This record gives sequence, structure tokens and C-alpha cells, in this order.
Amino acid sequence: MYLFKNWEIFQPNYRGAGDVLVSGGRIAAINTDIELPNKLAIEVIDGSGHRLTPGFIDVHAHIAGAGGDGGPSTRTPELTLGALIDAGVTTAIGCLGLDGYTRSVASLLMKAKALRADGLSSWIYTGSYQIPPPTLTGQVATDLAYIEEIIGVGEIAISDHRSSGATVTELVQLAKSAKVGGMLGGKAGIVHLHMGDEPDPFRPMLEAIEQGKLAPGSFYPTHVNRNSGILDDARFLDEATPIDLTASVQPDGRPLGKSISPSEAVVKLLTNGIDLERITLSSDACGTIPIFDANQNLTGIGVGQPDLMLAELIRMVRNQDIPLEQALCLVTANPARILLLPSKGRIEIGCDADLILFDKDFSIRYLMANGVMMIADGKRLKFGLGETT
Ligand code: ZN
Repeated sequence: MYLFKNWEIFQPNYRGAGDVLVSGGRIAAINTDIELPNKLAIEVIDGSGHRLTPGFIDVHAHIAGAGGDGGPSTRTPELTLGALIDAGVTTAIGCLGLDGYTRSVASLLMKAKALRADGLSSWIYTGSYQIPPPTLTGQVATDLAYIEEIIGVGEIAISDHRSSGATVTELVQLAKSAKVGGMLGGKAGIVHLHMGDEPDPFRPMLEAIEQGKLAPGSFYPTHVNRNSGILDDARFLDEATPIDLTASVQPDGRPLGKSISPSEAVVKLLTNGIDLERITLSSDACGTIPIFDANQNLTGIGVGQPDLMLAELIRMVRNQDIPLEQALCLVTANPARILLLPSKGRIEIGCDADLILFDKDFSIRYLMANGVMMIADGKRLKFGLGETT
């Protein structure tokens, strides 16, 4: 058992100073002053007024590697346990991406199982950029129904020169398959959409919703800050459609290509009247960051990193004056609600004990995943196979 005493608690909503008791991997009590008998074996961690937040949920991470846009040498490696922990990510949602041909849903699933075995939480989307999507069981619906780790399908590419050119009818069929599979398996059954740079980017999705009379919230577009056109058009989406922003930036920290930094994009979305509850932020970690010129010629390749989420979160608070409790929602409560992960993303009694304890400068002092301490006193305690630091 652990007792976190005297922490500023963000649930992510700010609760005030208080204590949090962790027992059996879950949050057992939250109160202003929890006193327990001395004879209980409890590790007490004094917060001295520092911040305690839920662990981050990364809704779009290429945990098993991705890429290949620029040939075999641009294939990216698997995401390491250490990289996730150091970034504050306690729940990683994996996806394949462009390469659903030489990479497989099977290897993605096994990577999610590996992260679980190492103590984190992980789920995946079946499929890849293309339609029909690669699956494990032959159908999206049965993948969702049979396989606990599969919660949706994606990232399906639309409005991108690298997409498979899916028709509206194919998108409708995919969304219906995901929805029914989600119903059977008790999952979100959502279609995670990769948004490309082509004009009028949401058109295939909006036409599919109309043609298929799809339930609101069937699609979950990502990379919505890819360019100002997509970001502007997001105001035309129905109120049930979540919006994911990508934290990837160029190696020198500048926004990628024509993209808008997530911290600025959040302000724009809120100004356009979009509810904060619909917005999430993900890393695109281990995805390649293809840099194209105006003629779609590849001019460089970067690799997404999971710690960009935390960096963008800090920028939201420091540069855009977004309150921390609101910025935190993008990587905690919002993705948990959108992806139907009820024990994740909140500091509430009964939720999984996924916690980050930040110093005043936002460096991670402690990190707990499912009640197991992963970082203590600023030092990582857990290492993946082959990791030494
Ligand atoms: Zn993508």
C-alpha cells in the first residue's frame, strides 16, 4: 500500500491539497487527511504540495514500430518501456499505420501484451492505413468481439496520397463493422482516422456519416492540427466526434511542415466553440514524421517521441495560459471516456492507480502504473528487456 500525503491533486479537475491511498493496484481513498494505523505496511510519500495527476493515456502510438515511407531504412523500432515511462505514459494505445503489408496486427497485439507484462496498460486498434484493413480473425467485427486488447480500428488513412483510396461505401461498411464488433465485445468500436493533407479533408468521413446514417462519434480523426485547413474545418464536425491532435514536431522543435502546434491548436478549437471534452493529444510515437515538399517529394524523415505529449502540455500551461486541469484532460479523462476505458485517466476511488507526481518544474518525481512504482525520487525503477538506463 502507498499513501501519497500532502499533494495538490488533479483528478484531472483540481481537487485541492490532500492524500491518496493506493491499495491492490487501485485508488482506495482520497481525502484531505488520511490517517492509518502504524502497524499497517504502508509506504508514505510526502508531496510537500507538489502535483499529483493521473498517468497519461497516449491514444496513438506506434508501439511496435512503423514507417517505411522512405524505404526499408526508414522503418522505426518498437517503442521501449523506458521511453513510455519517462514520458508519463501509463496507457499506450497502439496502431500500425502506413505499413499494414509487412507489419501485422499480430505483432502489434504481442507488443501490447509485452507492455502489459511489464506493468503498463495497453490496447490496440486493428487494421492499418488501408481498406480493407488487415485483421487477426478476418473481420474487424470479430477482432473487436474476440480479442480483449482490440478496442477499435485504425488508423485508417483518408484524404492522404498514401491512403488506399477508400470509397465512402467502404468507410460506411468499416464503421458499421467496428460498431457492431464494439457492441459484441463491450468496446468503443471507434474508427480512428488518419487525416492527410488533401483539400476538404473531412469530406469522405462526413459523406460516410450521412450515407450510412452512422451513429454520432463513429469516427475519431487524428492529426487534426496537421494544417490550418483541417483545424478550421473541425468546427463542422458533429458534437459527438472527438478530435485528436498530434504532438509530433520537427527535431528542432518547430511545428512539422504546415502543422499547428498542439498548444496553439487547442486555443483555436476552443475559440471555434469546440468543447474541451472532445479534444485529445497523442504522440504518434515511433511513427515516422515524413517531411514533404510542395510536390510531395520526401525531403526528410523524423521519428515521433512519446515525451512530446508532456512537452506540449507544459507549453499549453506556460505559453497559452490554459489551466493545468484543462490541459491534463487531453491526455487523461478525455481519452478514457472516448475509448471506454472507465478505470483509466482519473484519480477516483476504484480507478487503476496510474499516477504521476510532478516537481514544480514538471519533471516526473514518481510514476505509478497499476499500483506499481515505476519511477521513484526521479529515478526509473523498471526497465524493458535490454534497457539499462
Ligand atoms: Zn497517422
